[in-house]
Amino acid sequence: MSWPRYALATFVATLAAVGLPGCDGRPAQAPGPVRTPKESAEQASLVIMDTRGDVIIYTDTEAQGRLAYEAALARLKTIERLLNRYDPASELSAVNRAAGGPPVIVSRTTARAVIQARHLWQTTGGAFNPLVGSLVALWTQCEAERRLPTDEQIQSALLLLNMDEVEVAEGGAADGTSSCRLARAGMQLDLGGMAKGWAAQEAVAAIRRCEGVRAALVNLGGDGACWSEPGGGPRGTEEPGASRPPWRRPWRFGLQDPRTVSRKILAPLEATRGAVVTSGNTYRYYEIDGRRYSHVLNPRTGRPVENCIASATVVHPDGGTADGLATACMVLGTGKSIELLERLPGAEGLILELSEGRLLPCPTEGFEQYLPSRKLEF
Ligand code: ADP
Ligand code: MG
Repeated sequence: MSWPRYALATFVATLAAVGLPGCDGRPAQAPGPVRTPKESAEQASLVIMDTRGDVIIYTDTEAQGRLAYEAALARLKTIERLLNRYDPASELSAVNRAAGGPPVIVSRTTARAVIQARHLWQTTGGAFNPLVGSLVALWTQCEAERRLPTDEQIQSALLLLNMDEVEVAEGGAADGTSSCRLARAGMQLDLGGMAKGWAAQEAVAAIRRCEGVRAALVNLGGDGACWSEPGGGPRGTEEPGASRPPWRRPWRFGLQDPRTVSRKILAPLEATRGAVVTSGNTYRYYEIDGRRYSHVLNPRTGRPVENCIASATVVHPDGGTADGLATACMVLGTGKSIELLERLPGAEGLILELSEGRLLPCPTEGFEQYLPSRKLEF
């Protein structure tokens, strides 16, 4: 082995729910500590977001690893505190409550998230719409009342979806503060469609600001962002034919079978840097009168999307973008999704269509690079 001088610090945390935007309100369950094979230097279990996740960091020393891990957790907790729209104390809730009124002073983090969400709205031609909050509230209420929304209710909610009526400034005021204002009363921001990918990306960025970091993965329930330092081995330590150290190997993600909640992996996906995010209806949906409806809503019709897409997986250098694009693909349908992804630099994707119980894979041209098997057969 060519890397004995590196103390290996791997931190694995299991994260559980309290509900970042998009949370389905299930009670939080803190799982017990998880032991990773061999290298585990420290374990933690904590409660954050509505999902189990892993944080793995390779650093030069154990102490550096611990600091980087703390930085990642702090970042995730901050994002959750600011952007969980189901928490009345969050900044996003304050912005939503003030809809139709004056601007609300927010953190730069919140302003940046809203700006990126608006950008995704533009990129996807409105298929990704962070103002779906009022529609989500309508469908959630109807699910509780076991009825479908009326046409009038849908029409009223559709009037609240214009992102041009959201004013957001990041450090834009004369005194450098950030602010956000929803111009129309009733408008509701819901960043659930990009939250996990965005949060994972922010956590990886926080890790990278720490010292001694060689590689990191933040995986939130299958949606994750990762980074590895460039190169084929620690400088000057390579021996001919020596195997690559773990932090120089690609990170592994799993392409999950959208037909089952068992988290069965159809194929491994590998990435060195960037984010891999999947959107689908496997875990979350509305159920009314025994019928399941997608939890992704079509901002044009105000109704849950109905098409043959079982899941959309997007790879992109940026986590928030990957997540937003994956949600948009569910709305756009296969043809337009592949067209959009092919057009965007750095984006690749795989749509899994479902027909009579069988999955039909529809990848972008470059998606194969993330498939170690180079095959899409299942
Ligand atoms: P998941 O939460 O399973 O990762 P998504 O990333 O696709 O799935 O996000 C779905 C969530 O995004 C919904 O629960 C809702 O809060 C929000 N949402 C629904 N439809 C849209 C849409 N068209 N654009 C943006 N966000 C949406
Ligand atoms: Mg998404």
